[in-house]
Amino acid sequence: MRNIYCGNCEKEVLGITKEDYFEYPVRNLVYKINGKRLFCPDCGNELFHREYDEANQRAAFDLYRKETGIISPKEIKDIREKYELTQREFSYLLGFGEITVSRYERGSLPTIAQSQIIKESIEPSKMLILLKENGHKIETERYIQTKNRLEEMIANKNVNENIEQYILRDMKNITTPELDVYNGFKRFDYKKFSQMVYFFALKEITSLYITKLNKLMFYADYYYYKKFGTSLSGTRYIRHNYGPVPNKYQTLYDSIDTIEIFEDEYGNYIKPANDLALTFNDKEISILDLVNQKFKHMNSKEISNFSHKEKCWIETPHKQPISYLYSEFMECGL
Ligand SMILES: [Zn+2]
Repeated sequence: MRNIYCGNCEKEVLGITKEDYFEYPVRNLVYKINGKRLFCPDCGNELFHREYDEANQRAAFDLYRKETGIISPKEIKDIREKYELTQREFSYLLGFGEITVSRYERGSLPTIAQSQIIKESIEPSKMLILLKENGHKIETERYIQTKNRLEEMIANKNVNENIEQYILRDMKNITTPELDVYNGFKRFDYKKFSQMVYFFALKEITSLYITKLNKLMFYADYYYYKKFGTSLSGTRYIRHNYGPVPNKYQTLYDSIDTIEIFEDEYGNYIKPANDLALTFNDKEISILDLVNQKFKHMNSKEISNFSHKEKCWIETPHKQPISYLYSEFMECGL
């Protein structure tokens, strides 16, 4: 260790490093941290060592942040970069001094009140209010750019929230609490449903059209019921012009993030998008494989025609739910 001046001995000494637990004060609190300190070999005084002290302070500040919920340097940087602002601009917009954000991003501790202001600025609508209050402190051009960016973020957020609420509302109609012949004595299982869709999207050699997918879903649930006495996904199927379809199928398919929906002259079709680990058990896989094998060479029109021969389709009135009890009349070799 290099020579360091000991004020007590009034001379340069060769400091000794010790690593142990000791108390480190932060504001009105004291934390016990494990860190390195430097001591004088002659008198035992603690000597100042910049790197050691910075590391110890960081450790103590982290404990303090954890306890008080004060925002971290990384979180501050993330918010600032989301808005594409410089440290100086962000600092001014928050109502702080020019270099305050720069200091906080390098590890200084904000006050509780300042931390709260930064945290709230994560909401674009809150940031827009701050911009209107303090925007005169940054360049006009940057003010306009930031205002446009924030307004766009707010508009997108509203659209997404509306879609989410719409799906949730629709979901409530799908998930009835009662078990009956229309859900195959099983509560609707969204996870199962979306995995089935993904399974068929993976298996299809070319493009899987929604018209065909609807039938594959129907046969998987009804064959499963025929063999095991409950449906696979708890989905209700409605009698449609082109055959049976899952209740609210458009909303449901739109909500599944592991598939993507495309459109061409023949209609809408899906392809697998993100990777998904399937969690079907052996019974479920046996039925899904059976349905895939049986229908893989049929196109949308052929599978629709096939479904029109089913007793359930002939006897159920248009747009009414189809009873799972019809599965006993289905020919599938089970
Ligand atoms: Zn000394």
